[in-house]
Amino acid sequence: MRHRIAVVGGGPAGLTFARVLHGHGCPVTILERDPGPDARPPGGMLDLHQGLGQLALEKAGLSAEFEALSRPEAQAMRILDTDGTVLRDWRPRPDDRANPEIDRGQLRDLLLGPLDVRWGRGVTQVVPGARDGVLVRFTDGRQETFDLVVGADGAWSRVRPAVSPVTPHYTGVTSVEASLDDIDTRHPALAELIGDGSLAVYGVNRSLVAQRNSGGHVKAYARFRAPLEWHTDLDLADDEAVRSSLLALFDGWAAPVLDLLRRGTGFVHRPTYVLPVSHTWTHVPGVTLLGDAAHLMPPLGAGANLAMLEGAELAESIAAGSGDLDETVRAFEEQMWARAGRWAKITTAGLDRLVSPDPAEALAVFDQVQPSDTAERRR
Ligand SMILES: Cc1cc2nc3c(=O)[nH]c(=O)nc-3n(C[C@H](O)[C@H](O)[C@H](O)COP(=O)(O)OP(=O)(O)OC[C@H]3O[C@@H](n4cnc5c(N)ncnc54)[C@H](O)[C@@H]3O)c2cc1C
Repeated sequence: MRHRIAVVGGGPAGLTFARVLHGHGCPVTILERDPGPDARPPGGMLDLHQGLGQLALEKAGLSAEFEALSRPEAQAMRILDTDGTVLRDWRPRPDDRANPEIDRGQLRDLLLGPLDVRWGRGVTQVVPGARDGVLVRFTDGRQETFDLVVGADGAWSRVRPAVSPVTPHYTGVTSVEASLDDIDTRHPALAELIGDGSLAVYGVNRSLVAQRNSGGHVKAYARFRAPLEWHTDLDLADDEAVRSSLLALFDGWAAPVLDLLRRGTGFVHRPTYVLPVSHTWTHVPGVTLLGDAAHLMPPLGAGANLAMLEGAELAESIAAGSGDLDETVRAFEEQMWARAGRWAKITTAGLDRLVSPDPAEALAVFDQVQPSDTAERRR
């Protein structure tokens, strides 16, 4: 029997889930709130790890395409002291494909491929236990029922309340993102400073990180500990006002580093919210969650990877069709919770050390994360 399966959200989790199901010939309805794929800027790049995001793409049959699009050289990482001294300058070997980077927009288009997304279908509520399955209500007042509703609708999931009362909480760390275009021609000194990959500078309870995306585009992130209301006297839509406030916050840092804030535009405030570490729920027949909806954690290189692998694994299990659909989902949830719980612990501890009163902690994190042979590759 064909199940009526819907996935809410066309992010990394939802699209990977749908793409793998599609590859197995299983129909799935993709419900996405955005009116189209280019409705909003896709955001910065993602590093996809071997055994996580890359494994998910393998399950979707997209490894070759990923290899062609991704940028292994962007794994490079340079760390400066706040006075501009180079503390680490790590470059990957040409054949190092442990964590190559890909632009989010490219990843989305790769996953979208032949998928038929129902754009502009914002979900307001999911009600399990209805007579004919699980009821999904939409922003336009319509409703539809499915046998399985998969909530892949991110941090502020509208599906999550159907299985869990828990909501994300603020970590005490916030960030402001800025963009720089045509870096090589418009800001060559900054281009040189950032190199092929990322630049990071760690100070007391704050950091500045810049990442080179494709096409000479750079995303910079000013991250700091602050109350959620730190900007009450600030108009966040006013780039000049945000810039001066950040320059005051990072006062005394090396001039070339502060150029990231002076030249950056399009500031976006992104407070870091998380779900509790090891968030689980009592299984509800016909509804489950994937990705950030299930386990929002600090943005330290794991969220999209986990989201994609979960999507791929759930889709494979459903396509295998060996047992009852509900038992398949239940078994998947146990597996997801165990792995996500481990990563939530790692990333929570990582955030504490990367935005810490002692900047040496951040350097220690880098030295632990990089393979032991990196010392010889540091310049
Ligand atoms: C600055 C930053 C850098 C990061 N870097 C990395 C990295 O390098 N590597 C990594 O692995 N992770 C990274 N992450 C984390 C990563 O972005 C998330 O974990 C990942 O996007 C989660 O994917 P998702 O599909 O679960 O949710 P999302 O990406 O949030 O997608 C959810 C989708 O659901 C849609 N939606 C929302 N509500 C509704 C609704 N009611 N109805 C219908 N549709 C809805 C949204 O429009 C969206 O398309 C980073 C995060 C940030 C903030």
